[in-house]
Amino acid sequence: MKVLISEQEIQRRVEELGRQISETYSGRPLTILGVLTGSIVLLADLIRATEVPLRVALIQAASYHGTDTTPGELSINADLVPDLKGRDVLILDDIFDTGNTMAGLMERIKDFEPLSVATAVLLWKSDRTVVDFQPDYFGFRIPDEFVVGYGLDYDDEYRHLPYIGVMESSDLEEHTKKVDG
Ligand code: 5GP
Ligand code: MG
Repeated sequence: MKVLISEQEIQRRVEELGRQISETYSGRPLTILGVLTGSIVLLADLIRATEVPLRVALIQAASYHGTDTTPGELSINADLVPDLKGRDVLILDDIFDTGNTMAGLMERIKDFEPLSVATAVLLWKSDRTVVDFQPDYFGFRIPDEFVVGYGLDYDDEYRHLPYIGVMESSDLEEHTKKVDG
């Protein structure tokens, strides 16, 4: 698989993001709200690079189904979200593509009456974005290609890759062969 962003580049950038977030919130209690499932690897690394009084929470959002590589209907499950009233919240996702997922999440989180809501992602497909805002923190801007690894999946696989790879048509064929036996 073609590597778009190496493990080392990711690690370096995530540490920078952690420093940036620590400076912005500087001593203020923060809740980082990870979006399941794609953000889990970034979440684990970023929280260890962030030095503020920190709570970690999870919310579920899904717009891709199985082997689709284009988004479907957005569904959000906020059952796991703790009390966020009066807290600074940073929503953390793997990738900001059209921005519709993040827009839906922000709308939902506002019901919890937080003090502030900001957004962070590892990857931003800026050419594809259709919403009128951008992520407050992002690791890398990337072109319009379907990527996997470092939390991002294709058909629920490849999340464990330590790098960001591009799923090319040959990789898709390979995957299909493996799954179909
Ligand atoms: P958006 O709503 O911004 O269009 O899409 C965001 C969601 O779509 C992300 O949380 C992620 O699950 C999924 N997504 C968008 N682009 C990609 C991609 O290139 N690879 C993978 N694996 N997921 C993507
Ligand atoms: Mg996702």
